[in-house]
Amino acid sequence: MSPAPSPRVIALDGPSGSGKSPVARGVARVLGLSYVDTGAMYRAATLAVLRAGVPPTDAEAVERVVSAATISLSSDPDAPGVQLDGADVTAEIRGPEVTATVSAVSAVPAVRRRMVAQQRELAAGGAVVEGRDIGTAVAPDAPVKVFLDADPDVRAVRRAGDRDVGVRAEGDVVQAVALDLARRDRLDSTRAASPLQAAADAVHLDSTALSADEVIARVLELAAAAGFAAAR
Ligand code: C5P
Repeated sequence: MSPAPSPRVIALDGPSGSGKSPVARGVARVLGLSYVDTGAMYRAATLAVLRAGVPPTDAEAVERVVSAATISLSSDPDAPGVQLDGADVTAEIRGPEVTATVSAVSAVPAVRRRMVAQQRELAAGGAVVEGRDIGTAVAPDAPVKVFLDADPDVRAVRRAGDRDVGVRAEGDVVQAVALDLARRDRLDSTRAASPLQAAADAVHLDSTALSADEVIARVLELAAAAGFAAAR
């Protein structure tokens, strides 16, 4: 699979809770670029697999279900969303069942090939693309590559705060989220097909002690240095 050139792509990779989404949306807004949330696409594929009742470990069956599914992404940074077979599933893909299963589905090479091809099309006109393998596999020639990370405890608190439960302060919820993040990080980093990995030429940013606005400002500096101009 030879990638098309991606001259107007900003690749933003990193583990869950590192702050990719608010940063990617903020940067896309300022630069007038599309926002491509590749995690949402893997989540929609996973929802299709769950609905079909197929075991996520059965790679052939997973491939069959995902090939038959139509996944469409809204790449407007002000109104991100995802549709599965024509129906909006933006909220449903954040549920616990999808979150528990997505790493298994996204480890299937045929699923990745399909998603990567679609992601390249979505990014072709210029985009901030967030995920796990953007700098290494989806857009290896992107002029700006950032690998965003943060302390695991901070990531867990952030992700717990994202959830509908809205109990940022409840230790047991944060602990459960921390365990789930550690499990997903391990699966995502150790799978054979394009694992979570920083590209050799990615700039590493640690968002542990930074606000989203501070990280956005840093990424915008990198983008300006690479020739990206702010939208009017
Ligand atoms: O970013 P988010 O947490 O929504 O991603 C959900 C999952 O999708 C990740 O844990 C990972 O298994 C998968 N993913 C991936 N490659 C990407 C983006 C997400 O494998 N580029």
